Amino acid sequence: MVICFQCPDEDDSSEEDTTEEVYSPLTLEKLAMQRLLREEALAISALKDLPHLLFPVMFEEAFINGHTKVLTAMIPVWPYPYLYVGMMIENRNLETLKAMLEGLDILITQKVHSSRCKLREINWRNKYHHVNGIWAGSRKLLPGFMTQKKPVQNSPGCGVKKELKVTTQLQIVEGRLDESDRYLFQWAQQRKDSIHLCNTNLKIQGLTKATVIEIFKFLHADCVQDLLLSDLCLEDLDFLNPYLRQMNNLLNLTLCHITDTLCMGDSEMSLLPTFHCLQKLSVNNSLYVYGNLKRFLRCLKKPLESLIITDCNLSQSDLDCLPYCLNIFELKSLILANINLCDLLLEPLGFFLERVGHTLENLELELCGIQDSQLNTLLPALSQCSQLRFVSFIDNEFPLLSLKELLHHTAQLSQLEREVYPAPLECYDRDVILSHRLEKLCPELLDILTAKRMPKEVIFKTTQCCNCGGYYIYDLETESCHFEV
Ligand SMILES: [Zn+2]
Ligand SMILES: [Zn+2]
Repeated sequence: MVICFQCPDEDDSSEEDTTEEVYSPLTLEKLAMQRLLREEALAISALKDLPHLLFPVMFEEAFINGHTKVLTAMIPVWPYPYLYVGMMIENRNLETLKAMLEGLDILITQKVHSSRCKLREINWRNKYHHVNGIWAGSRKLLPGFMTQKKPVQNSPGCGVKKELKVTTQLQIVEGRLDESDRYLFQWAQQRKDSIHLCNTNLKIQGLTKATVIEIFKFLHADCVQDLLLSDLCLEDLDFLNPYLRQMNNLLNLTLCHITDTLCMGDSEMSLLPTFHCLQKLSVNNSLYVYGNLKRFLRCLKKPLESLIITDCNLSQSDLDCLPYCLNIFELKSLILANINLCDLLLEPLGFFLERVGHTLENLELELCGIQDSQLNTLLPALSQCSQLRFVSFIDNEFPLLSLKELLHHTAQLSQLEREVYPAPLECYDRDVILSHRLEKLCPELLDILTAKRMPKEVIFKTTQCCNCGGYYIYDLETESCHFEV
């Protein structure tokens, strides 16, 4: 628990937020669409002559402003194979969803399709990170994401073939779907001959068995690529196991807040079924990992790309098993954060780093309480991780000498693009951050790197102030110390 000398007034920070918003000028196209949409009937009759390129702009305007009749009319003449409405979901309500589904109903029941209509898939998702910013005015991206091209998918897909596909992500929170999801779900159930509701992304928070049973009667488990299970106990996991077993295309699994501890060695059985193509496994805030990491990692059938363990406790036997677990030797990313390692022997972690050194690109050991004596056991292995592009060791308490030793090793890693280190312990006076010390000590730390290579992005960061959440950083770019909140 440290504090800074710079806790800002609360009023100041809120002012900054508002000025940061970017207002992009409306494009001519948007203005024209807004004018056209003032008269819905006119807009609908204009659809037949509307150039393909203007469909996304018109759709966006109609969606945001709730012109539901126009939305319905646009679907049966949509001139592209795909329609992505991910970002617009921010503004979604049941009415806009109903309008789109009505449009799909027209399309399904039409005997003769408009020659213009190419629609095969609607992507109706809550989050679509890749398209962030589109609505802020970067129009260039819009046609690509909204229309012709399918976003790159690195999985074989669920293989269900139907006339039309609606991709979505469902969240079952305490046994409930939200209003729109439930409507979509029931709508698709009633049209199951022509519609494939492809749920690529599933979140189950808290278990209600009846809901899970009902949902999986209709959903194909094969569709699920991202699964988040949270607020469950081990008994719930047992119940879900048969469903998990059917998720043959699962790429990302996140387990969050799984309660109950297991008695160590009480069973040799695996905790999870075997996953055939899992790439990323995250465990967050889950007691049950303690002493069971080996059993837990037995679910892997293919080499994992990313292992993330945060806010958990690990035992010595957990660390000991790491160099011997199958299918984790081709990791590209290893993140251990907020795990207290200070009382453990880190040699096995060193052996493990040696084994993954040829593939590891991202290594984050943050807030792990690593002591300087422990750091030494990791360094030889670290300097063999020749593919590393990103490292972070923040929130570990390293004195200046240890930090220098660490930098002598990372200085040999020629692929590094971004490196984040903790401010040395000398930058704190008991619980107070001394920013002038950071300013004074960092140049010599940077010299260690620049003597060996041209570093790209280097940051030294203090712990967060427990009052304001702010921290100081010193970075290579500005070669100065500044405060951030
Ligand atoms: Zn502060
Ligand atoms: Zn599917």
